[in-house]
Amino acid sequence: MKDLQMWYNGEFLNADQAQVSLLEHGLHYGTGVFEGIRCYETDKGPAVFRLGDHLARMVEGAKTMEMSFDVHAMHSAVLELLSRNKMTSAYIRPLAYFGGGYLGLDVHPLNVNVAVATLPWKSHLGDAASMKGTTMSVSKVRRNPASAMPPLKLCGGYVNSILAKLSATRKGFDEALFVDDDGRVCEATGENVFYVKNGDVFAVEHPDALAGITRNSVIELAGAQAVPTYMETLLDADEVFVTGTSAEVVGVSAIDDHEFGVGPVTRELAAAYQDVVHGRDSRKERWLTYVA
Ligand code: PMP
Repeated sequence: MKDLQMWYNGEFLNADQAQVSLLEHGLHYGTGVFEGIRCYETDKGPAVFRLGDHLARMVEGAKTMEMSFDVHAMHSAVLELLSRNKMTSAYIRPLAYFGGGYLGLDVHPLNVNVAVATLPWKSHLGDAASMKGTTMSVSKVRRNPASAMPPLKLCGGYVNSILAKLSATRKGFDEALFVDDDGRVCEATGENVFYVKNGDVFAVEHPDALAGITRNSVIELAGAQAVPTYMETLLDADEVFVTGTSAEVVGVSAIDDHEFGVGPVTRELAAAYQDVVHGRDSRKERWLTYVA
């Protein structure tokens, strides 16, 4: 970590030099927006997957808080940072948040700080998850409704995911599944949900769920149909899997006491996704931004 560089407000700094004040607004109230992006090794060198789409979603999140920042500078910073850190694969974390000087709730007087970190990759559901699948428990904590917190990557919104994840891990599950009061499936704490029935692939659609970029990619790869889904339909599926930048495509082996196998369609899509992100699928080259 010590030798890694990070980008902060236009400067490249050693990770241990980058410091912030204890009075940053974002630290107290979660008034920030972030992205989770990945860079993968390909035959043509490292490539960032759907960089423009991730940064566009970040700008959308910033707009909800009337926050503006230079997204072109951030785009360049991501690529230069990967090259300075000599990383061929990485997790990329851009962040924009309101700075210090005032702790009131009117954000207009505040400056915006921007940062990018590139970190060595560690799978977030665990490497074993891709092989044996992940387990989920239906969360008693409800998802932030879109009417209260837009489903974008706003920092403070993630406390909701964390509360749900804590209760799932306390029960011995890997992940929490958000289901609404009407029994409709929403998403997991950091992944979107899909299911397979009689060979057809369906993407769970819910207004409170993040419009995942992996979800969008897998819908295109699988020719999946996006549908609102009740919990009973999900439990009746042949296969269930989740998608996310960090999780990629991972089978769900159990939802509470209902067990699924990690099935053939999930395995096929997980492999197809790996081909895309590693630049082995020429039809999806447009999703890759090469570092050099
Ligand atoms: N839902 C939530 C709540 C998330 O945090 C994420 C991760 N960004 C996802 C879904 C999956 O989104 P993506 O495929 O864009 O990473």
